[in-house]
Order: sequence, then structure tokens, then C-alpha cells
Amino acid sequence: MSKSPPFPTVSAANELRTDTRLVLGGRDPFAHHGFVNPPVYHGSTVLYGNARDLIDHRGRYQYGRRGTPTSEALEAAIHDLEGPACAGVALCPSGLSAVATALLALVRAGDHILVSDSVYRPTRIACDTVLARLGVETTYYDPLMGADVAGLFKPDTKLVFVEAPGSQSFEMQNIPAIAEAAHRVGAAVVMDNTWATPLFFPAFEKGVDVSVQAGTKYIAGHSDLMLGTISANKTYWTQIKDTVAATGLCVGPDDIYLALRGLRTLSVRLDRHQKSALEVARWLKGRPEVLRVMHPALEDDPGHALWKRDFLGASGLFSVVLKPVPENAVHAMLDGLKLFGMGFSWGGYESLVIPFDCAGYRTATQWTPGGPALRFHIGLEDVRDLVADLDAGFKRLHAAVNAA
Ligand SMILES: *Cc1c(COP(=O)(O)O)cnc(C)c1O
Repeated sequence: MSKSPPFPTVSAANELRTDTRLVLGGRDPFAHHGFVNPPVYHGSTVLYGNARDLIDHRGRYQYGRRGTPTSEALEAAIHDLEGPACAGVALCPSGLSAVATALLALVRAGDHILVSDSVYRPTRIACDTVLARLGVETTYYDPLMGADVAGLFKPDTKLVFVEAPGSQSFEMQNIPAIAEAAHRVGAAVVMDNTWATPLFFPAFEKGVDVSVQAGTKYIAGHSDLMLGTISANKTYWTQIKDTVAATGLCVGPDDIYLALRGLRTLSVRLDRHQKSALEVARWLKGRPEVLRVMHPALEDDPGHALWKRDFLGASGLFSVVLKPVPENAVHAMLDGLKLFGMGFSWGGYESLVIPFDCAGYRTATQWTPGGPALRFHIGLEDVRDLVADLDAGFKRLHAAVNAA
């Protein structure tokens, strides 16, 4: 048999740049007869060669739930993107399960945690129900308070949860300053890094200890699967890994394969999402119907300086507040849109829009936008078509206002 040529391994790829790592990460073609992509292992039972090996759990793989070559390929590829301070990556069946599991892994009864008031709303629900029931107290803090969060620490504060920009309302957080304050008292920093991904926010370089992503969004990139990832540094990896194992979390191999396929094009997709979203955001900013645009890459956004200092890019999700108009006028605009779908989630190739209102569930801050708020996800369509669709939408909005 001829010898297989060496394939650049994940660890050898560490000097390579991000786009190259996205191509190489988690692959070992010559372990699979030279096929470029890893096979999809469907499996629960793994056979052992003899009784001794079974009793001693001796074997590269033990049981489907505990990992397969398919799950390891995606974990390795994401690990490689997170950088050298990341000690491991665990897969979860959704982004929310990754958030909830990361929190459960780090706390015990009697602990106190600090959570940004602008986190993804289901994260709050996990804190207010599951964690509260287990005797873990959550204090929500103003996402803009930065290092002042230190004033909210209690003796048993175990972690600070950050998400930047904030869900729906796009507040930026001073994550290095928050991390410094947290580490001074031995608390962990857990981040939801779904918006930026490790490509646009290298979380571990900025003081984050545990970084969660909804792989459902940009990693998958095609609105066709649910998946979450938890990446942790050396201090917290064992707790994360053991909790994921103890709670039996695993992801079906076909979904893992699709996520791995999505990951290969993450960088080129994000480039386009970034460019198109900025174009649409600037166009919206110039519209007379728009009160303000919440997009940290816009020069006059309140979070722009932090974004510019800490982030390497902006993805395709942002919000706008319209000048006050009746709800039926907003609905007339939205209901006739041809290219913007209305539905939850984002990160796929298609453009989306949702109306939203944070007023009912924020507790540390007040949501008083001054008009109806819309969140846009800008997909990979031609921006000129998207703008024409929105332009026609504003015409319908005016027609509804004038008819009233
Ligand atoms: C969508 C989302 C999640 C949850 O991901 P699912 O896969 O839908 O459970 C978590 N955080 C943020 C910021 C999200 O946008």
C-alpha cells in the first residue's frame, strides 16, 4: 500500500491564519481513504474486541453519546478557531442548551451570578426558573456599566454573564474591564458570542473564560439545524466537559455534519453579511421614517468605540427604531415585504425582520425606544433588491398612516 501524505493537523495549523484554519480544522482525509470530508458516523453501540477491553473501557470510542469521529471533527474545528487559550469545546443540542449547561456547570446552591440585562431573553428564563429553583440568585446589571459591575459583587458571586452586542438592542459591553473586575474576586466570565463568532470577537483574548455560541446561527448558516457550542479555558474546561457528559447532551451526526459544512464558508459569508448589513443600516439611517439605527459599526453608535477597540468585524444583525406610527402602519410595511422573511432565529443566508419590544422583561434598565423597533438580519441577497423591498415597505407604511 502506498503511504498517505501528511495532512496539516489542528495543532500544526496553529501558525496558520483564520481562513486557512477554517479549511483545515477537524479534517484528517487520509484517515478516511482520502475523502476530503469526515464520514457521518451514525452510532450508539461501539463494539470492543474482548471482555478485558470492555471492562476497562479501553478503546478510542466507547459509546455514541460520548463522542464519535464526526462530533470530534466539529469540536476540533471550533477549538482551532477559538485560539490557544481554549482548552476544549463541547457540543450541545441547541444554543440555549449550551447557555444553560455552561451556567449549570459553574454554579452550586447558594451562589450568586451577574447577568447582563440585555442578554438573549431565553437565557434570563433559564436563570429565573432552573437556576432560581436550585437556589442560585441572579442579579441583572446594566450592560453599559463596564468595570462598575464590581460594585454588584457579593461574597458568593460565581460568574458574570456577558453578551455583546446585547440581544435586540445592541448595547456594547466593555468585556476586558468586566473580566478584570470578575477575575479580581475569582469569578468566571461567561459570554454568549453568537453575534460576532470567534472570527469577529476572539473571546479568550479579551478575558472570557467560557464562550458559548448558538451554532444554529452563523456556524450552520443555512437555517437548517439546531446546535450549540461551549468553549472553555483550562480553568473551567473540566467542569464543562463533565457536566455535558453527566447530563447526557449530544447532537445527531447529520446536524453535526451540516454544521461542519457550514463552518467551512463562515468567513466568506460573514464578510458579505457585514458589508451588506452596513449598507442597509446606512440607508435606513438616512430615511426620514427612522429615528435611530442600533449597529455598533456605525461611527455614531454609542458602542462604536468599544466595538472598534475589541471587535474585528460586525455580522449581519442590527435593529432600528422607527419614528412613532400606529402598529397597523408597521404591519402594512412588514406584511408586504417580499425578500425579508418574518421569523425567529437568524444567521442563515436569507434576510429576516421581526418587530420587538424589550419593555416587558428588562429589569435593570428601561427600554423606552421612542417608537416601534425592528430587528433586521441581512442575508446574502443583492443589497439593491433588499433596499428596493424596504423602500416599497415604507411607501405602504405612509399609505397606512395617511389612510388613518
Ligand atoms: C439564537 C440564540 C441563542 C439560542 O440558540 P438556539 O440554538 O436557538 O437555542 C442564544 N443566544 C443568542 C444570542 C441567540 O441569538
